[in-house]
Order: sequence, then structure tokens, then C-alpha cells
Amino acid sequence: MVNSVKTFLKQVGKDYQNQSVNPPVVRASTIIFKTLQDIKKTQSNYKKNPLSKNFDYGRKGTSTTFALQELLRKIENAYQVYLTPTGFGAVFLGVISVVRPGDEIIITDSVYSPTRFLTEDYLKKFNIKAVFYDPKNLDDLKKKITNKTKLIFVENPGSNTFEFQDLKKILSFAKNKNIYTAIDNTWGTPYLIKPLDLGFDMSIVSATKYYSGHSDVMGGSLAIKKRLFKQVELSQKAVGLRLSPDDAYLIMRGLRTLDIRLDKHQDNTIKVANFLSKQKKVKEVFYPIKKNIKQYKMWKKYYSGSSGLMGVKIISKNKNSVIKFLNKLKLFAHGYSWGGFESLALYQDKLALGNRSYTKLSNNEHIIRLHIGLEDPNDLIADIKQAIKSVR
Ligand SMILES: *Cc1c(COP(=O)(O)O)cnc(C)c1O
Repeated sequence: MVNSVKTFLKQVGKDYQNQSVNPPVVRASTIIFKTLQDIKKTQSNYKKNPLSKNFDYGRKGTSTTFALQELLRKIENAYQVYLTPTGFGAVFLGVISVVRPGDEIIITDSVYSPTRFLTEDYLKKFNIKAVFYDPKNLDDLKKKITNKTKLIFVENPGSNTFEFQDLKKILSFAKNKNIYTAIDNTWGTPYLIKPLDLGFDMSIVSATKYYSGHSDVMGGSLAIKKRLFKQVELSQKAVGLRLSPDDAYLIMRGLRTLDIRLDKHQDNTIKVANFLSKQKKVKEVFYPIKKNIKQYKMWKKYYSGSSGLMGVKIISKNKNSVIKFLNKLKLFAHGYSWGGFESLALYQDKLALGNRSYTKLSNNEHIIRLHIGLEDPNDLIADIKQAIKSVR
């Protein structure tokens, strides 16, 4: 039997015999049936088996989105996968499926800042409280659990500061209590770690990043365990989020090379990270390369590899010279998002870091986020070498 993600990604659906290798784009709103009785039949099929492909209206999906859903179910080892129009849509769907007024959510302090906005600000009006824990101190998380805690939302590694946490320890806190667990696994994807097998109830990936891989499509996936099925199914009905068949097609095409691209992102990023770690102005490299530190051990314990998104902390009293360094880069573009074939560089100011409780930067510390693309790593290193001289 097939167990390897690599093989799943290359499998061709037997449903698509006598057609193209990749499932074609099928666009539809109305699906037509021969008789009215046939329409009723799809409804009773769904009642009998809620996992059956409910191909009776475009909002529920077409054969294109079902093919992608099937593939992701296999690589996540999930009971069901929900496809959303953006990665953040998957975060939203997962969170609102489990919480009720009066509940509390505990979240990684360095979480992706829109997730922080959703939980800390937006959900307040539904009387849902968000509490943030220090990803470098899980005793802090344990202390924050109350009898109102409904969900522990983990992002691993955390956005911009890339803390790797002891995931099994977190899961042990939730065990035997009525607490659900979710992880934002956009950095690792199920190619490097399978959260549901570890014990998480929900695994969220922004398909915009490595799944698509070409910076030209947006999407998200929420993979769940069976025990959440009823709740997520209900929310999905209520919110009407749907991934378009065209985007599903592009994401499926991207997935065929997910393994190959990630292997190369890793090779390149290790080289760049090693180079950066030797630079005088660089105080810290946020990437698992230093074997003796705790972050490395936690990465090694759970991940089969690493991806291409990393950070560096630069020390300089002169912020403008750090900005000048980034502007002088010729092979790194400046822009949001990541996960494409190209290299990117951003200066992470206070806004990007969000309203954090734990990672406070002093005025001479600066966080740079780099996405290391699929270019020749020697070219990337030479580019950084000429530009980093600007840092004063
Ligand atoms: C980008 C990102 C998201 C959101 O994905 P979009 O597709 O941009 O909506 C969620 N979590 C993390 C960690 C991300 O980097």
C-alpha cells in the first residue's frame, strides 16, 4: 500500500480514465439531472454517507475540487478536508467551528497576525476570549488552561520568529479534557510533518504558499479528524466558502512537484542560513541549523525536513541602513506572501509582528524575513554579500 506523500502526489486518479492526466477544470453552478427523482437521490446519498461526493450544486464543489480534496485527504491522513478560497479562510472555518460564546482560545503568541486579529479582536463581540502563550515556555501555556478553554491554536514554527515547540507536550495538555487542538502547518506542509497523525484535531495549510508554488493562486485547506466532522460540516454550510475549480486545478498542478521544490528550498536555505549566521551584524538566524540549541532539537523531533522561509535578527543602531541593505538586494523581490519559486525579503516592523506579549525588540534589533527561492544559492549568497555591507 502507498504510505509516502511523494507517491500520493504523483498518483493519477482512476476516475479520470480516457481523459487528461490532471483532472480537467470543471466549472459549474447548476448541475443538471435527468429526472427530479435523480436530484432527490443525491440528497439521500449524502444523508447515508456524508463523505459522498455531493455533486449537485457548484457551491459544494465539482469534480476538479473533489480531486484536490481527495489528494489532500490522503497526504494529511484526514477524515475530511475543506477547501477554502484563501489560507486565512481555513483558519476562520476551523476556529469558528468549535467555539461558542463564553469559550476561551489559547494561541501561540507569534501567530500569523490576521489570526491574532480574528481571535483577539473580532471574536470579542461574540464573547470569545483569546489568551496568548509564550512558544518558548510551554509551562506558560499549561498555566493558561481553564475550564473555559475550548481550543488550543498552535502555529509551528511561529510567524517571523520561527519558534519550534514541543508539539506532543502541547497535545498532552489537551488530552482527556474537552479541548480541541489546531495547528497552522503552512511552513511545513504535510510533506514535512503530519499533524493529524501526531494527534491534532485540525491541520491548516495556506495553499497559496507551497502547494501552489508559483505565487499566482490563493487557497487554503482545513484537514480534520472524525470527531470534528459534524461541527465543521455545519459551519461550512453556514459560511459558503468555496474554492474555485480553476484555482483547485492550479493547486493540484503545483502539488505534483511539492516534494521536489521543498527539497530544493531546503538545500538552498541551509546554505544561505549558514552564510548569514557568520555575518557580524547578524545576531540570530531563525532556521534550524545549529544542532546544539533547543529550537533545532524540537524541529528534528517532529519534522523530516525544513522549508524555505526563515528570519534573521540584525543588530544596528541605524534602521535606515538595514532598509538600505534590503533595497540593495537584486535577486530578492519585496512583497507579501511566500512559497513561490522566487526569493523575497521583508523588513518586519512592529505592525507585522503584531501586538505580541513576549517577543519584544529593542530599538537596535531588526527582524528580516527571507523566503529563499529556487535560484542558484551561490547567486543568492553573492547578492546578500554585496548588500549587507550597507548595514551600519
Ligand atoms: C499566508 C499565511 C496564512 C494565510 O494564507 P492566505 O492564503 O494568504 O490567506 C495563514 N497562516 C500562515 C502561517 C501564513 O503564512
